[in-house]
Amino acid sequence: MIHMAKPQMGDEEKQAVMEVLDSGILAQGPRVKAFEDGFAQMCEVKHAVAASSGTTAMHLAMLAHGLSNGDEVITSAFTFIASANSVLYAGAKPIFVDIDPRTFNMDVNQIESAITPRTKAILPVHLYGLACDMDPIMSLADKHGLAVIEDACQSHGAMYKGKKVGSFGTGTFSLYPTKNITSGEGGMITTNDPMIDEKSRVIRQHGMRVRYYHDELGYNFRMTDIHAAIGLAQLKKLEKFNAQRQSNAKFLSDNLKGVETPRVPDGQTHVFHQYTIRVPDGKRDALRTHLQENGVGSEVYYPVPIHQQTFYVNELGYKDSLPETERATLEVLSLPVHAGLTASDLEIIVSAVNEFTG
Ligand SMILES: *Cc1c(COP(=O)(O)O)cnc(C)c1O
Repeated sequence: MIHMAKPQMGDEEKQAVMEVLDSGILAQGPRVKAFEDGFAQMCEVKHAVAASSGTTAMHLAMLAHGLSNGDEVITSAFTFIASANSVLYAGAKPIFVDIDPRTFNMDVNQIESAITPRTKAILPVHLYGLACDMDPIMSLADKHGLAVIEDACQSHGAMYKGKKVGSFGTGTFSLYPTKNITSGEGGMITTNDPMIDEKSRVIRQHGMRVRYYHDELGYNFRMTDIHAAIGLAQLKKLEKFNAQRQSNAKFLSDNLKGVETPRVPDGQTHVFHQYTIRVPDGKRDALRTHLQENGVGSEVYYPVPIHQQTFYVNELGYKDSLPETERATLEVLSLPVHAGLTASDLEIIVSAVNEFTG
């Protein structure tokens, strides 16, 4: 079976973990600091703050920006649930705009009409490894005095016009094992703003600036040094992993027939966290079954848009209509593209798809 994800763990990761175990410092310590410094450098920002997951990194970012009850955050419903849940955790309300059907990212032309006096932030989700259209997003944020909090959980190293995602506003990243690099579980906040950096650090550690003096409500969102050691070893391989994903994606796009392959807008560097095709006319699920029978894994990211998730409908009363988002949930199919695929895996994926599309 060719799986959708396969964490690439080498001797460097194993060695790094053993060193931490021998060091006696297991909780947040020198490896977390080193990982933060390395991540900030990769992202070309001044500060990075490690957290226990992508979700807690996003939650922290919302709190660091002072989001609270009654505030609104404009985002996409075509994403993993954590993007919108992190807004809810802060007491704020996600406001969904539809996606651009060509990129699956938020349609920037719909943002301005969604802005109200309660809007505090825009939350662009760089889905599948492709950046949102950041120029219009940044100028809208500037014009209306809004924060930009990027969900870059799928886009480590992706670039928009030569600039890294996570360096436009406040960036949030996940280091879950399926992502382009992993620390086991883990997350990262990136920023050039020293206030956001400091706020995130304090809230991450129970609102504590001086040991056992608690100035505000905080949490335990810390990363361990064990996870940081794995993350640091992985960070050194990010460029190589991304290049491998890009080359796998190119092979797929060059050889797949009868499906709509991913588009990369001019000036963008796609890091292919997912390689997602569109299969119209209700044939998506049949293709998925055919691939399964031929030993090829595939997955639908995401089968239910957030505004139609049970909790959002029943408890929060969402009843938006987002036609492109809803159409995408019926047509998208992600194929294996990870850095562990072999040339023969790629051949098998291509033949299985092409056999189906005929
Ligand atoms: C993975 C992911 C998250 C959450 O990250 P975790 O580390 O799993 O908590 C948030 N947003 C998106 C788009 C993701 O893919």
